[in-house]
Amino acid sequence: MARGGTKLQVEQLKAERERVLLDVGRLREAYKFEVDGNVDEGDPNFAEREKVMALVRGLGRKLESIDNALRQAQDGMYGICECCREPIDPARLEVLPEATLCVKCKTIVEQ
Ligand SMILES: [Zn+2]
Repeated sequence: MARGGTKLQVEQLKAERERVLLDVGRLREAYKFEVDGNVDEGDPNFAEREKVMALVRGLGRKLESIDNALRQAQDGMYGICECCREPIDPARLEVLPEATLCVKCKTIVEQ
């Protein structure tokens, strides 16, 4: 991949990182608000809380991926699969700039 391309992806990743951090902050606030109230398992808010927690966990994982990809970019390894060291499909990086595994390895990891 051209160096200019990588620089653009890094900017994208940084912007995405900011967005994720904002989302986490917003969710954490919402979550805290619900914890302060009296919520038990029978409460309809319980499911809502679980949903928020799952979202926060998901965003946390996304943040980790973004940080990983940014570290890779620093090492000049952006767009290279962490597992098989083959270049990741640019089309995949376009939809998922934080991807650090190619589709093949990702499928294996998830199994
Ligand atoms: Zn791979």
